[in-house]
Amino acid sequence: MKKCVLYKKEKNNLKCIACSHQCLISKGKTGICGVRGNIDGQLYLLVYGRIAAKHIDPVEKKPLYHFLPNTYTYSIGTVGCNFRCGFCQNYDIAQFKEFHKNIFGEKITSKQIVEETLKNNCKSIAYTYNEPTIFIEFVHDTAKLAKNQGLKNIMVTNGYMTKECLEYIAPYIDAMNIDLKSFNDEFYKKICRARLQPVLDTIKRAHEKGIHIEITTLIIPGENDSEKELEKIAKFIASIDKNIPWHISRFFPMYKMKDKPVTSIAKLKQAEKIGKKYLKYVYVGNV
Ligand code: SF4
Repeated sequence: MKKCVLYKKEKNNLKCIACSHQCLISKGKTGICGVRGNIDGQLYLLVYGRIAAKHIDPVEKKPLYHFLPNTYTYSIGTVGCNFRCGFCQNYDIAQFKEFHKNIFGEKITSKQIVEETLKNNCKSIAYTYNEPTIFIEFVHDTAKLAKNQGLKNIMVTNGYMTKECLEYIAPYIDAMNIDLKSFNDEFYKKICRARLQPVLDTIKRAHEKGIHIEITTLIIPGENDSEKELEKIAKFIASIDKNIPWHISRFFPMYKMKDKPVTSIAKLKQAEKIGKKYLKYVYVGNV
């Protein structure tokens, strides 16, 4: 546990400014993510130095296809999330409050993570599995140390970070895979309990900062797979840079969306065709 950097005092509450929810947190409470808590008038990151998942993955698994290809990335995540997606693949850690009473995770320091990364011949560290924005101070401290050792840093993110959060982390982040889950604000509200615009803003801002970006969209039958919506996503990405790779990912029934069918190959091919009208690099994943 460590004091957060990204928050402000507001009357009797604390306003967290890590993600676009900007939760107002009263004494003894945590924000929506469940890992940033007001303890006696100071905001603390309760998962600082406590990781709930770690793996050594090919960087292509993040997915990043145009960044350090054929290398491994030391991947870590904590518990908690600022979204509530019914299709979450890591719901056991992301939505930990549904399944566990308390925060959990192996204690580890930034220094140990960097040492492990070097020892295992990984070229980068990926902050992934759950949303790294919610544990941004731990990302920051680890990424800074890693950069000093010649390593690269990757965030796999839903893009819901504030401008302040991006300013804070950008000097140490080399690449991001950002989910653009839909181009419909209603989808974000209903399924993720969030909004679309902050995600679009992050994509634009991260690109402006020169961070390498790749975008992922999970195609969920009946939710975000209309021709019109896929076209809007592809056009938006192209309006920033047509060289940004777009990963179209196949949905499998999961967590609270077990009643939905698997995305058909025909639909994935249609999405790929639409993407290629506007973008140079379109990849179909999860097949
Ligand atoms: S990271 Fe987001 S969800 Fe968590 S406390 Fe801060 S504003 Fe709320």
